[in-house]
Amino acid sequence: MKRICVLPGDGIGPEVVECAVDVLKQATDQLDFIHADIGQLAKEKHGSYLPDETFDLMKSCDSCLFGAVTSSERSDYTSPVLTFRKELDLFANVRPVRSLVSVHGRSAIDVIIIRENSEGMYTQREVFDDEGVTTLRRVTRKASERIVSFAIRYSVENGRKRLCCVHKANVLRGSDGLFLQVFRDLMERQQGHLTKEEQLVDSAALKLVNEPDAFDVIVTLNLYGDILSDVAAGVAGGLGFAPSGNIGPKHSVFEPSHGSAPDIAGKGIANPTATILAGAMMLRHLGFNDASRAVERAVSDTYASGHLTYDLGGRHGSKTFTDHVLKRMVGKPLDESHR
Ligand code: ATP
Repeated sequence: MKRICVLPGDGIGPEVVECAVDVLKQATDQLDFIHADIGQLAKEKHGSYLPDETFDLMKSCDSCLFGAVTSSERSDYTSPVLTFRKELDLFANVRPVRSLVSVHGRSAIDVIIIRENSEGMYTQREVFDDEGVTTLRRVTRKASERIVSFAIRYSVENGRKRLCCVHKANVLRGSDGLFLQVFRDLMERQQGHLTKEEQLVDSAALKLVNEPDAFDVIVTLNLYGDILSDVAAGVAGGLGFAPSGNIGPKHSVFEPSHGSAPDIAGKGIANPTATILAGAMMLRHLGFNDASRAVERAVSDTYASGHLTYDLGGRHGSKTFTDHVLKRMVGKPLDESHR
């Protein structure tokens, strides 16, 4: 039995997480779900956006499933997401985006974006002076080697053929130059499993839109990965399609790439696909490969049968869409390897 810490959070977080948990329960009976508070509700109930009890539970569980939190402009606000990514050493952010429906006649997209998750523009170190603010953007050899090695391993293990480094080393010659050099060095040593590709971040954004099938796997710095994964999700149909995994040596947190979407919260119309697919990623991470495939197949079949959510102009809310996914999973075998 694996213990899963469930963190619904704010906005549409609880709605989409509930759908994903229903699907995971159908996929295997080998998961034990333990809920915990995070975000605005946690602040009201426990006085902290990431209470100690929640953080301890995240550390003690085998993995975590997270919804979203709404950020606040309060002066005492600290992002629970950036905190747990740092404190749990979740250095790799994996964001697969795959077309499940045809959008505006564009070619299908099937890309995995692997984003450095621990430094770059997200160090939250800002220096104020009379004229303005300087944000410190940190790129280290150690973190670059760690993420590029991870990306090579992940690509090979997932049967991918090409790995593209996305950077801006023509302008940021020191920091992005270091990242690119590390990429070139490590690709030299990977014995030809993968084809090496390089692309400037601005042209990568254009290419994702104009030639969605141009990329296989992308490895990139923190901010570029954040932006490009939303671009890729848009090409696939919207933010409701992009799952995400934060992975470290000991811990992991799976979540949708989107935020808490306060504009549609409570209406029952959020697309739960990204969170359900994040659940499938978590299953694979924990070794429940058959169950993971069963979830992915059920989601694909649901779309292929024409069941569309509101964000695609369809008429399915979170619950009825999930019911269609669940219907396609009835009778699927449980993961025997973990019995
Ligand atoms: P936050 O401050 O939490 O990041 P946000 O609204 O600024 O919230 P997102 O939550 O990423 O950012 O949402 C951006 C847009 O995409 C919103 O219009 C939202 O309604 C839409 N959106 C996000 N997730 C979904 C979803 N799962 N289903 C449908 N629409 C979504």
